Amino acid sequence: MARRRLHDHDSGEGLLSVEEAREKVLSQIQPLAPLQLPLVEAAGCVLAEDAVADHALPAFASSAMDGFAVRADDVAGASPANAVELKLVGRALIGHRPDGTVGAGEAIAIATGAPVPAGADAIVPVENTEDAGDLVRIFEGSAPGTHVRPVGEDVRAGTTLVQRGRRLGAAELGLLASAGIPHPVVHPRPRVVVLSTGDELVPPTDEPTYGQVRDANAYTIFGALREAGASPVLAGIVRDDVDQLRETVFEHLIQADAFISSGGVSVGERDVVKAAFFKRGDIGFYRVAMQPGMPQGFGQIEGKPYFGLPGNPVSVFVSFEVFVRPAILKMLGRTQLDRPEVSATLTADVRGPKGKLQFARVEVRRGAGGWEATPTGGRGSNLISTVARANGLAMVPAGTETALAGSDVKVMLFRSSED
Ligand code: AMP
Ligand code: MG
Repeated sequence: MARRRLHDHDSGEGLLSVEEAREKVLSQIQPLAPLQLPLVEAAGCVLAEDAVADHALPAFASSAMDGFAVRADDVAGASPANAVELKLVGRALIGHRPDGTVGAGEAIAIATGAPVPAGADAIVPVENTEDAGDLVRIFEGSAPGTHVRPVGEDVRAGTTLVQRGRRLGAAELGLLASAGIPHPVVHPRPRVVVLSTGDELVPPTDEPTYGQVRDANAYTIFGALREAGASPVLAGIVRDDVDQLRETVFEHLIQADAFISSGGVSVGERDVVKAAFFKRGDIGFYRVAMQPGMPQGFGQIEGKPYFGLPGNPVSVFVSFEVFVRPAILKMLGRTQLDRPEVSATLTADVRGPKGKLQFARVEVRRGAGGWEATPTGGRGSNLISTVARANGLAMVPAGTETALAGSDVKVMLFRSSED
């Protein structure tokens, strides 16, 4: 009987395909409502409205060099052998409106970044001059506009600085700050409440008694959420107790944009997530044609997405990659939801259940003839060290019982190679 059931699972019959399951999840996920956030909180978030410049940048013409602001006409014929002497009538300081103007035969000393005084139309760098008290000698001509940073050279008033849909990285943040947009309208980071279910679990700070295990999943999920750009809220370990689970979930509702629990979603009688939410109709439970990660729960609690992931640590990691990460990115307003994929040559056989898409942990490296993927260990969904050594998930499609060494597989890369 046990053998037969195992075989049934392997066949993939009656299971949802990974694509169908992903679609079921993503069709119920919307970007979080936009709000204005200070730049430091908006960092990494997706802009929800175009940011438009209401004035030009730079806002005033300034000098690009330390030197002298002059009239180009006055210095047109200047050379070392034929210096032009100008009367020094002032000094243009950074951060101040120049008080003087440059008339014919006059110059004003100017620092890099200082506003160009009225009357001047060119800057002569200090190295082409000689200071002589009330006079300055100019040894080189300077065409109009030379070393002047004109108004609007960077951005003209009314132009779009950053388009909606773009993630605010370092340069975008600096640009918005320059343009006086300190509170851009963005999709905020989802706050995601993380629960671990299981009577056997203890926190990683505790010494487990025989048969107990330390809660790994909360930390895997925490890290994965952080990497995806969400704000995780760890709600701790919940016993296999329906009331305790419900209570913990509802207690956290106010601060949650989504929930993720691990464990308690398979077929066992004591599967607590199922027992707590299935009868209420809040969460659907699916068997997905994938390995690891076949049992999945997904639904909404009071309009907040709830992901009921399986309990095994590798299943958690893979389920997060396949279902949760794209959903989090969608909540963040991102449009590219997929990890980068490469085609890589297997360096060893990978056996998989024939009716399911298998996600095999591999280390991808660049070989002589292109990418190579080496399995990092066994197939068991409890073997978390195999994930920690990997940088990709090789996808062995349903229908392939063994992907042979030397054959090519698609690999989803979940971390960049050398870190
Ligand atoms: P379950 O689906 O709740 O029966 O869990 C499946 C397997 O995953 C069991 O061996 C659990 O002990 C293990 N497991 C569940 N939750 C965690 C967790 N948070 N950390 C580590 N292992 C877990
Ligand atoms: Mg459990």
